[in-house]
Amino acid sequence: MTDSPPPLPYGRQHITEDDIAAVVECLRSPFLTQGPRVAEFEAALCEATGAKHSVAVSSGTAALHLAYLALGLGVGDVGITSPISFVATSNGLLYVGASVAFADVDPRTGLLTSESVDSVASRLAREGRPPRVITPVDLAGQPTDHAEIQAIARQHGSFVLDDCAHSLGATYEVDGKTYRAAGCAHADAAILSFHPVKAVTTAEGGAITTNDSSLYQRLLELRTHGIHRDPARILRDPNDAIRGPWYYEQASLGYNYRLTDLQCALGLSQMRRLAAYVERRQAIARRYDSAFESSPLSAHFAPLAKRPGRTNAHHLYVVQLRRRQGETLRDVGLRRRKLFTALADQRIHCQVHYIPIPMQPYYRDHKGVIAGEHPGAEDYYATSISLPMFPSMTDSDADRVLDALSAHSAQ
Ligand SMILES: *Cc1c(COP(=O)(O)O)cnc(C)c1O
Repeated sequence: MTDSPPPLPYGRQHITEDDIAAVVECLRSPFLTQGPRVAEFEAALCEATGAKHSVAVSSGTAALHLAYLALGLGVGDVGITSPISFVATSNGLLYVGASVAFADVDPRTGLLTSESVDSVASRLAREGRPPRVITPVDLAGQPTDHAEIQAIARQHGSFVLDDCAHSLGATYEVDGKTYRAAGCAHADAAILSFHPVKAVTTAEGGAITTNDSSLYQRLLELRTHGIHRDPARILRDPNDAIRGPWYYEQASLGYNYRLTDLQCALGLSQMRRLAAYVERRQAIARRYDSAFESSPLSAHFAPLAKRPGRTNAHHLYVVQLRRRQGETLRDVGLRRRKLFTALADQRIHCQVHYIPIPMQPYYRDHKGVIAGEHPGAEDYYATSISLPMFPSMTDSDADRVLDALSAHSAQ
């Protein structure tokens, strides 16, 4: 009997001895949380993205919640986002009592199309409720059309919040100039996630980046209960006899969404390898791409379409099943399911990113969800599968995936 090959997940963290040493050093230090490593990690995020400010928080989901709050969204407001994202992207709007309108994606990239964002935003404006925010998602690590989306947002007086959970380390060009994902050159703020499958990890963790100093101050306050110690804003006479150096004030209803020093120690150590990780992911993507661009695999599969002038951070590697003549979406969806199961039988554990959010039972029944049609999202969903993609993957791991795809499609 031959040994079964090791399992290959769609994504996995990479932890080095340096990472472990950094966390252990923190454990021996005076601070487990709210110590110096938080600001150091935030500085590393600013350095990597080019954003002026960053606020580390306990998850990417917390980052979305705080960003929507700090932008002032609430009951009666509407946000536009992508149906092809993790549910957290739109859940953040529901957390603050806002409504969600989903624009549609290009079925070949999974990215929001400017045309669809424009048409949903214009429809909302005609109904007297222009979007307060537009949240594009850099799906799989490929930057969306940031400049175009910002232009649409400006027409409607909307904020832009970039969901860059997949794209830390990616770049895009506008008019010959290169911009970094989460640098907020075309957005009011961006969010990142440091979940173990993401570009770098803090176990759980996230951050908001922004170039807007007043938004930054609101985010800091909301991260820690709405409390501040800003002398300029303390409401009553600070020399009051019942006050002292301990004095603080709660000015708004915030949360405890802090990221610990322990986690920031890990994140800081990981950030030193961000560029190397992204390069390795891009090398694996090229290996997959070249197989899908030549026969016989090219007859059955196509990588996601590449938008011009961008580098992809490749959080995910999504490949799509080519539709056969006369095949319905249901037919191709069934073929995708067979493929998924056949790969899992060989311990190649793929994933599907994502089930369109409006299809979720909670969203179907929610009064805060504005109805719409999303044929691009349905098409994207039926045909897509995420193959193993993580920086510690070897070339032969990638070849094992490709061989399994070849064997399956030859049947
Ligand atoms: C991972 C992810 C999030 C949420 O991040 P968590 O850190 O898991 O809370 C948000 N948006 C997208 C697109 C993600 O992939």
